[in-house]
Amino acid sequence: MAYVYDDQNIFAKILRGEIPNNTVLETDHCLAFRDINAQAPEHILVIPKGPYVCFDHFANVASEAEILDFTRAIAKVTDALKVEPGEGASGYRLIANSGKDGMQEVPHLHVHVVAGRPLGRMLS
Ligand code: AMP
Repeated sequence: MAYVYDDQNIFAKILRGEIPNNTVLETDHCLAFRDINAQAPEHILVIPKGPYVCFDHFANVASEAEILDFTRAIAKVTDALKVEPGEGASGYRLIANSGKDGMQEVPHLHVHVVAGRPLGRMLS
């Protein structure tokens, strides 16, 4: 599979500092920021800094350091939001839309971290 990365996508522009974002946290390889069109009280996007189109691109090509950092960055976000399922906490949902049928709008890998209300069934 040949992946073609469009460096004019909006998240690439955010990473280059060309447009603003509401940063939640930054790591060596990742940025997490608030979704501009939040679907729940908490709606954060976690993206790798590298030029990866979608999850399988990242998983197939990224270095182990990037993959570890991305996974841990998502956990740092759920930790910061205090939503890990457990005693007294409410839980969350991770979504990584990929490609046409996944209705991915921005062609730079992002994981949505959504929380803060009951989220309903996964698909309708
Ligand atoms: P997806 O449909 O999975 O590609 O999701 C793209 C997400 O990016 C949507 O939830 C948008 O609201 C969000 N989004 C688009 N532009 C921005 C932006 N400038 N800052 C933050 N979130 C954005």
